[in-house]
Amino acid sequence: MVLEGFRDPQLAKKISDKIHEYAKEIDEDLLFMHVCGSHEWTISHHGVRSLLPENVEIRSGPGCPVCITPADDIDTAVQLAQEGKSILAYGDMSRSKGSKGLSVLDTRPSGGDVRIVYSIHDAVITARKEPEKEFVFFAVGFDTTAPPTAYEILQGLPPNLSLILSYRYMPPLVGSVLKSSVLGIDGIINPGHSSTVTGMKPYYPDFLETRKPEVFCGFEPIDVLLGILMLMRQLKEGKPKLENEYTRSVTWEGNVAAQSSLDKVFDLAEGYVRGVALIPQSGFALKEKYRNLDAYEKYGLKKKGTNEQFIPGARCGEVILGLCEPTECPLYMKECTPQTPKGPTMISLEGTCKIWAEHRVITSIKSSKK
Ligand code: SF4
Repeated sequence: MVLEGFRDPQLAKKISDKIHEYAKEIDEDLLFMHVCGSHEWTISHHGVRSLLPENVEIRSGPGCPVCITPADDIDTAVQLAQEGKSILAYGDMSRSKGSKGLSVLDTRPSGGDVRIVYSIHDAVITARKEPEKEFVFFAVGFDTTAPPTAYEILQGLPPNLSLILSYRYMPPLVGSVLKSSVLGIDGIINPGHSSTVTGMKPYYPDFLETRKPEVFCGFEPIDVLLGILMLMRQLKEGKPKLENEYTRSVTWEGNVAAQSSLDKVFDLAEGYVRGVALIPQSGFALKEKYRNLDAYEKYGLKKKGTNEQFIPGARCGEVILGLCEPTECPLYMKECTPQTPKGPTMISLEGTCKIWAEHRVITSIKSSKK
């Protein structure tokens, strides 16, 4: 057992023992999913899977923002860079490849002006400093990164800055994972960061429909272990709930001020989640009065319909969805390594392939029955 990484190894041992006790009582194979790269990092880094019984598996699902950004939007960013617009992007987003195997960063050798920023605020400052240039901010992420962008829009963006908008709203994505008969999960660990903004409330309708255990969870290894115990207790007692382990951050209502900024700027619309599907109400679309800030609108571009494409032979889409493990991809640690990443899940810091490669994880499956 790997208990050294836990602040309180004795408590971790107690929780792990209880999980084993419940697993014996339930006596079925259980498949849990989380949808957050930070949770996968915690699980892999601290060896949380080694503390679980053979019949309990925790699998990584679609929660890495760079990985789920549609190839369509990457292709558009590439096109705009090739046409002379200056692209402002997060580091790993700038390296994620679109349908033709090109990232925005790949346009640099032929003159593309691609700059790495850490926030929308960086993008605003950069655009203000060089008013003669046209800048496009590649806005990706979930409910955590969308509010600062809403705030900047309400303050007023410089006229030479527009957005490729790829923000996704997590509750409908979690709902689609819960309802998926292909995945067939028994319960889910909900993401702590984005739920701090959304609160638990928007998860309730899908919970009522599926009646599958859900636990909102923090990012310490003990949080994840406790979250798994809470899922198992719900199953053992036959009482599924929306339960909150991360009470120090997540509330029922969430961050109402952030939600208010989002509501003023965005409507929810269908959004493509790369590797998953087109999911109703999962995308943030600019309201009519801010539509001129959309780079597609500003430059008269259309979506290209290239959402699903990955490089030939790769299993990135299945890894994002949680249908296959990185080690099952024929390219894993051969053509595709952290030094030579081919797909988004190896490029992104939050991608499952990269996390597994850096921690030498072999599988999340212990039971021979799976
Ligand atoms: S190993 Fe590379 S190619 Fe294979 S799924 Fe992961 S990122 Fe995609």
